[in-house]
Amino acid sequence: MRHRTALLLALALGAAAARAAPPSLPGPAFPQYVTPAALEAACSRHLAEVQAAVKKLERRPVDAGWLAASDDLNALTEDRAHPFFLITNVHPDKAMREASEACELRWQSYFTALGQNETLYKAARRVKPRDAIDRELLKTTLEGFEDAGVSLPAAQRARAKAINDRIDQLGQTFDKNIRDDATKLAFTEAELKGVPENVWKAAKRDDQGRVLLGLDYPSSVPVIQLAVDPAARERMWRAKQSEGGAENLKLLAEIAQLRREYAALFGKPSFADFKLRRRMAENVPKVKRFLGEVQQAVAEREQRELEELREAKAKDIGQPLAQVKLNRWDVAYYTERVKRERYSVDQEAFRPYFPPRESLAFVMRVIEQMMGVRYEPVPGVALWHPEALAFRAVDVKTGRPLATLYIDAYPRDGKYGHAAVWPIRSGSARLKRAPQAALVVNFDRNGLSLEEVETLLHEFGHAVHNNLSTARHSTQGGGALPDFVEAPSQMLEPWVYDPKVVALMRDVCPACKPVPDEMLARAKIAERYGKGAQYARQRLFASFDLELHGPDAPEPMALWQRLESATILGHVPGTMFPAGFSHVATNGNYTAGYYGYLWSEVLAADLRTAFEANKLDPAVGRRYRDTILARGSEKPPQALVRDFLGRESNSKAFFEDLKR
Ligand SMILES: [Zn+2]
Repeated sequence: MRHRTALLLALALGAAAARAAPPSLPGPAFPQYVTPAALEAACSRHLAEVQAAVKKLERRPVDAGWLAASDDLNALTEDRAHPFFLITNVHPDKAMREASEACELRWQSYFTALGQNETLYKAARRVKPRDAIDRELLKTTLEGFEDAGVSLPAAQRARAKAINDRIDQLGQTFDKNIRDDATKLAFTEAELKGVPENVWKAAKRDDQGRVLLGLDYPSSVPVIQLAVDPAARERMWRAKQSEGGAENLKLLAEIAQLRREYAALFGKPSFADFKLRRRMAENVPKVKRFLGEVQQAVAEREQRELEELREAKAKDIGQPLAQVKLNRWDVAYYTERVKRERYSVDQEAFRPYFPPRESLAFVMRVIEQMMGVRYEPVPGVALWHPEALAFRAVDVKTGRPLATLYIDAYPRDGKYGHAAVWPIRSGSARLKRAPQAALVVNFDRNGLSLEEVETLLHEFGHAVHNNLSTARHSTQGGGALPDFVEAPSQMLEPWVYDPKVVALMRDVCPACKPVPDEMLARAKIAERYGKGAQYARQRLFASFDLELHGPDAPEPMALWQRLESATILGHVPGTMFPAGFSHVATNGNYTAGYYGYLWSEVLAADLRTAFEANKLDPAVGRRYRDTILARGSEKPPQALVRDFLGRESNSKAFFEDLKR
């Protein structure tokens, strides 16, 4: 049934395009593997093909075309390797996911070996870049080689490779332990009082008729936020705080030790020092200072908010304030309650206004209005699951297809449980190569809360960062520095509280009831509530990450306990948050880089100042598209932001915002 609705909507949205010619997707089709063995065979074939291309590049003379040739290799590698990284996270069949994971490890090992390829490194060092864009590419290329250990003595180089391979493996197991965590908690209907029926009505039951709920967001968040029964909230909260399990703590400890050893190979006192020297933030003291400033800016607010929540609890349970303790599992519940009571805002009440399909169309309409790009559905494309959809981004002015976006919207067992975008292919003007990305979320089929629409907008910020790049080289088509990468997404988040933006819902769903302006206005005020506690928590995560990757590489649980104990609500014995903290475990942008979420917020708030008068201003949107999104990493982020704003970036807007 649902599928039919989707198709009808797709047809309606695509009607204009359909009259001209049946739309097709730019770029290669998503690979279809029928069996794990077929996937494995393809994996071997692709690796061999890419390795042959490496050999060819090794033999190539170092002339004016060398840098472009090395970027050709990057483009080929993306096409052959990246689909597997998505399959691991979204394929409905566990055996396929596992085959894909095994394939991923082979690719990661290939990447580490490539980083240590001396022939290519020596060639790159002889390249004479012809302009600033090529110079930037060459700089990051050389840094990549150096950070992989290419110029270390042979024994240390081998150790660097072994460490990287081992961390990849450990990180993968860490993620798998979270993704495949089959914990189900049993609740009686009475225990679920306050939790909307649509969350649990269709859930499986145990032999005593109790509702079984897993740790996925659509199940766990409503229980923690809305269950009236404190014991029910506590159980779900504790389970969520222990997601990944004790094995993951051991994995994380080993990972942290290995990273410290890795940094030592390069003569650096810590992995954080090793990483930060390549980032916008530049060094550890600078990040620590920034985190200190954030903490200072929010401390009073956090204290006040938590005290208000404690008062709300005392009133609720009818006890004198002096005897009431606010527990961690009370925070989300009483935050929601205060929001409902004080601002009459109930996130659940937004669901009828934002049906899933129409919400997607709405966010696409926002992008169209701002950036002059239309997302058109392309029906009938074979992907990894029948519910996954394909869209193409088309430039409104020229009608030119620019990119492909896949969307996988609903939760299912074994699927990645958060919201994220996987870049599959980076664009390149030189190669006339169209970007491709996949946006993965877990919607409630009954509709989205306003917070979930906000998440969707956030993810679209990532999607357009990939889709609208016209950078010269594919290597520069997606990747931005880790401490900038969240900024384009965070910039869009407050858009959902602007009535003018939300009014675009009418364009895509004339039959939908419009969100009442005053409901939105209240939600906007309420959104500020709880920010103190939220930022303080983000600061805590960032500090944990930084210290875990500090000179001592401390034991993760002991470190977490120490840091969390120093917060107002303290540490809850028995919980093990780090076991589910994938950001710091897996090798990627957030390792010794979690502070990037806060750092990007500074940039996002600054970018937003350009849209102050009108969030949908097509001229500003176009400038944003051209100066930032289109350029990928052709320039360092500071320079891109300067081009867009016409001045140096500063943290004024961010800290002012914190005070609001
Ligand atoms: Zn993000």
